[in-house]
Amino acid sequence: MHKIIEKKQLADTITLMKVEAPMAVREAKPGQFVIVRLDEFGERIPLTICDADKARGTVTLIIQQLGRSTKDLCALKAGDSIKDILGPLGNPTEIEKFGTVVIIGGGVGAAELYTAAKALKEKGNKVITIIGARNKSLIILENEFKAIADEVLITTDDGSYGIKGFVTDALKKVISGQTVNRVICCGPIPMMKAVTMTAKPHNIPVIVSLNAILLDATGMCGSCRCTIEGKTKFSCVDGPEFDGYKVDFDELMARNKRFLDEERRALEG
Ligand SMILES: Cc1cc2nc3c(=O)[nH]c(=O)nc-3n(C[C@H](O)[C@H](O)[C@H](O)COP(=O)(O)OP(=O)(O)OC[C@H]3O[C@@H](n4cnc5c(N)ncnc54)[C@H](O)[C@@H]3O)c2cc1C
Repeated sequence: MHKIIEKKQLADTITLMKVEAPMAVREAKPGQFVIVRLDEFGERIPLTICDADKARGTVTLIIQQLGRSTKDLCALKAGDSIKDILGPLGNPTEIEKFGTVVIIGGGVGAAELYTAAKALKEKGNKVITIIGARNKSLIILENEFKAIADEVLITTDDGSYGIKGFVTDALKKVISGQTVNRVICCGPIPMMKAVTMTAKPHNIPVIVSLNAILLDATGMCGSCRCTIEGKTKFSCVDGPEFDGYKVDFDELMARNKRFLDEERRALEG
């Protein structure tokens, strides 16, 4: 069992939890994730290791309430326990000295890139962060990113905070003023596709962190199958990060809709 030692509400539907998971954090690297199961009947939920305190043996998870399992998870309180936390899983983010790196997080995707941003800055890169959300109330980790990044740009779809528009509007602004050596992006699939298309005319390498529906996380079940440069890959063991130019985003979007009826029934039930 894994005890929740801290719980904080970051936005209406976004919760931060620090949870005891000494085994999972011991070898954790930026970009990796864990599989969480609330109880013995629980669904397997992949969640990124947003921060790992190796000395205290705690993992920071940032969870957006979307359906039944994330709703049940977010309803837990500090002091409650989670049955299983399995990890670290997936390949870590490549941390090298690239030059200027733009980190783009849409919604809870910002949380998923926080440790990578920190590690890239420590490696000597100039780190520019773009955080985008539908409105001001959904912007998370602004101060945390300001503490580590050289520049932080905020965009909201409705203009309630920062630049009115999408993360791609901010990216265009950044690219027009300087050389960008790498873009790393995590968020809704249409956003990652749009970021890739925006960077393409400038030949900037784009890394995207895919949120394919992932079940066993060992490469055996095939649920997170995606097509990368015409070849079948499993997001859990071959990813979750891939070269954005090679990803078949349209197929991934279609595959991620395949349980919509079941997801709706689970939430209603
Ligand atoms: C590698 C990886 C890291 C992730 N990290 C985070 C994170 O740090 N914070 C966070 O809030 N979310 C993260 N997610 C997404 C999170 O796992 C899903 O939102 C969650 O599983 C939804 O479960 P649900 O029962 O609440 O919603 P459901 O109603 O079951 O589903 C809602 C939507 O969530 C997605 N989803 C459902 N089940 C899964 C699944 N098993 N795997 C992936 N996506 C699923 C689907 O797009 C679905 O339409 C991550 C996903 C992946 C693949």
